[in-house]
Amino acid sequence: MVRVRFAPSPTGALHIGGVRTALFNYLFAKKHKGEFLLRIEDTDQNRYVEGAEEYIINSLNWLGLTYDEGVGKGGKHAPYRQSERKPLYRQYAEQLIANGWAYYAFDTAEELDILRKTAEAKGETFIYNWATRATLKNSLVLPSDEVQRYLAAGNEYVVRFKMPDNEVLKMNDMIRGEVVINTNTLDDKVLFKSDGMPTYHLANIVDDHLMEITHVIRGEEWLPSMPLHLLLYRAFGWEAPQFAHLPLILKPVGNGKLSKRDGIKLGFPVFPMDWTENGETLKGFSGEGYFPEALINFLALLGWNPGNDQEIFSMNELIALFDLEKVHKAGARFDPEKIKWFNHQYLQQKGNDELAVLFGELLKNKGIEVATSTLQKIVGLLKERATFVNDFWELGKFFFEAPTQYDEKAMKKQWKEQSPLIVEEVAALLRNATDFEARGLEGIVKQYIADKELGLGQVMPVLRLALVGELKGPDIFDIMEVIGKEETVNRLFRILE
Ligand code: GLU
Repeated sequence: MVRVRFAPSPTGALHIGGVRTALFNYLFAKKHKGEFLLRIEDTDQNRYVEGAEEYIINSLNWLGLTYDEGVGKGGKHAPYRQSERKPLYRQYAEQLIANGWAYYAFDTAEELDILRKTAEAKGETFIYNWATRATLKNSLVLPSDEVQRYLAAGNEYVVRFKMPDNEVLKMNDMIRGEVVINTNTLDDKVLFKSDGMPTYHLANIVDDHLMEITHVIRGEEWLPSMPLHLLLYRAFGWEAPQFAHLPLILKPVGNGKLSKRDGIKLGFPVFPMDWTENGETLKGFSGEGYFPEALINFLALLGWNPGNDQEIFSMNELIALFDLEKVHKAGARFDPEKIKWFNHQYLQQKGNDELAVLFGELLKNKGIEVATSTLQKIVGLLKERATFVNDFWELGKFFFEAPTQYDEKAMKKQWKEQSPLIVEEVAALLRNATDFEARGLEGIVKQYIADKELGLGQVMPVLRLALVGELKGPDIFDIMEVIGKEETVNRLFRILE
């Protein structure tokens, strides 16, 4: 049974890279009829941010990435919040010490700082590892009665992993293939602290094991931790899960990882939902009017594609086609124009009834109430040009309010000597129309043009200017039908005034 987890730390808003990690875990789980867990990794109390956990859960819900077990849901391995699992980790740290895989280190922060600075002064870097550990204050060096005395006296300590000497590790990553490293290049990472809190590395491995995780799918920034993690599995005598490290998400232009600042600077969201931090609200995709399906589709293609040029995928298609082995190694460039394109596509797919409801809510906030059947017609006429529901207002505000001014340039070009007469005569014909329906109205006006031996260009633009105020918008007969006889005739007289 495939079991995967999304294991974010609640340190702020969930970055779009984290959302993609959650999505790929979800797709992989569903594809293999497995289970998807949400674990909150909050062992680092210094980086804990109030509200972040709730934000993560709300975002997953908005996107429809439902999890089978986890925080807020429970499950057979509860609790799923690491801070609530605190009492569990000490025994594992002690087990590693007892088996010679880890040791107590009593060096104080100040002592280590001095060593760091001294090394720096010589142009070197101090690393706690195979080369230095024998000269430092730890249980590998100190006599055991002294170690016991330190512990009994409540001296501060950390438990460090004793990285094996000079071993060439050959590891496998489902995306990157074979990864080889010599353990001498790695340091003795801290696993546990005397305040009883494990570090990320220990808690992550213990929990993945206890929660029966079969595949660890996470961002590339964790690739350097893979050797330590595999060695921890070896040290505990546990079977390791398979690893897959997802490629970075790159800035739209230039080099480097997409950051929160890129979004602010270039004006696009990098978070799923709105997030308020230090009194400042950063807009998320949902707040900017993106549909969750569009974001899912866009993220699915950041670093993966099924090997053809299909671009629009429903969640079910993604589940059916997703394959970790087809995920790319190279970073995936974030293109804010592309997600707009997806949103446009998804908007076209939506029914006019659904769009009418969404647009109706927006109008209500402006104090405008319109019959649903009318709104359905309006969104139908506008949707081809809309990317967001918000666009309906900009594209079609003339449906709700008569123009208060007329585009000067267009007037200069279109408003001729004969225009007033034309507008007046058309108004008179329309006033007598029995059935105010677009195609019928089109017949009346075209007949008038033919009878008077006029050109379309002498009539249509001025009618449009009267109804819309500028030379924009859908078919003018459709506009007439929607706004009705009285309003149409009023607008025609108004331009005469
Ligand atoms: N808590 C880590 C993070 O915030 C999880 C990394 C992992 O999936 O192992 O990204």
